[in-house]
Amino acid sequence: MMRLIFLGAPGAGKGTQAQRVSAKYSLPQVSTGDILRDAVKSNTELGKKAQGFIQKGFLVSDEIILGIVKERLAKDDCQKGYILDGFPRTIIQAQAFNGNLSQSRAKIDYVLNIEVPEDKILERLSGRRVCTKCGEGYHLIFKNPLKENICDKCGSGLYQRKDDQKETIIERLRQYREQTLPLIDYYKKQNVLRTINGDEQIDLISKKIDDLLSGLRA
Ligand code: AMP
Repeated sequence: MMRLIFLGAPGAGKGTQAQRVSAKYSLPQVSTGDILRDAVKSNTELGKKAQGFIQKGFLVSDEIILGIVKERLAKDDCQKGYILDGFPRTIIQAQAFNGNLSQSRAKIDYVLNIEVPEDKILERLSGRRVCTKCGEGYHLIFKNPLKENICDKCGSGLYQRKDDQKETIIERLRQYREQTLPLIDYYKKQNVLRTINGDEQIDLISKKIDDLLSGLRA
């Protein structure tokens, strides 16, 4: 049983690392951003409500997010652990999660806080590309696909998230500083925070996370 939270600014590499841990430990990666983007794509009620916020770089309301997470964590595949990627993002979300949101008042093993200096974030996010079909992440500088604009894994086309454009990135970073940064202290006090330097090679970061998690399993 392993329950993890990935914390960090947009573009810190939460999704990339969460995906790797998910594959290695066979744990579901619960990304609220992915769930919201799927909802927007399929034009559901949730998607319609969330779309404007996402495109402007604002956070979606706590109420909506808490509903999504509650529903997702109740599913069978989450009963043996999970990785939260992009949740919680506000103190209210964290408190709700600590309260009764997660089944059996789940105790989090680690909150992995991936730290990247802000000037690097802009470069990272503006070069980011995502597969339209399988969601695999790429980067024009750091992780180019073998064939331009084509996903190595499934052969579909890549796209740039609308919220990865400059003005939106600036707003997302502001939201991060104002709403999410306080979570670092919150989890520090609970003794579960582990900070990882995210300004390194992807593989090296994975290795450090792996070392940490293997200690957990032993
Ligand atoms: P992400 O893919 O994690 O960067 O999320 C993309 C966007 O979805 C964010 O900029 C928010 O608008 C919204 N979002 C995702 N997760 C949350 C959350 N936990 N709380 C509020 N909004 C969220």
